[in-house]
Amino acid sequence: MEPVHEGGCVCGAIRYRATGQPALAQACHCTFCQRRTGSAFAPLAAFKEAQVELSGATPSHYDHVSDESGRWVRSHFCGVCGTSVLITLERNPGVRVIPGGTFDDPRWIKLSRHIWARSAHDWIVFPIGVDVREKA
Ligand SMILES: [Zn+2]
Ligand SMILES: [Zn+2]
Repeated sequence: MEPVHEGGCVCGAIRYRATGQPALAQACHCTFCQRRTGSAFAPLAAFKEAQVELSGATPSHYDHVSDESGRWVRSHFCGVCGTSVLITLERNPGVRVIPGGTFDDPRWIKLSRHIWARSAHDWIVFPIGVDVREKA
């Protein structure tokens, strides 16, 4: 049976259900993710559109235009509590990226890659054997 991972925003107005394994799970150290989350980096699980079902309130969204690529990255967030529950990218239209910390149990995620390491905090120690990339 396919694994099902559920999650949602802090206040519970938006819920989601992801079926199957993500195509990729990675930690993003870019400055957009740092500011978006208020944290040092963002664990991100990338699914195909058909794997992710949203329910509850309709998310608000904000388009961040990358100063590297000139393309937008859209953060879909709860209009009540502000949690970023989904990210879509102009570059990958069929992909639904779920911020790892929003899963009810986020511990299943196995990160295979760290990206935008060039903007990582000085105190970050990358695990041995993990793919670390300066950019995306
Ligand atoms: Zn909420
Ligand atoms: Zn990022």
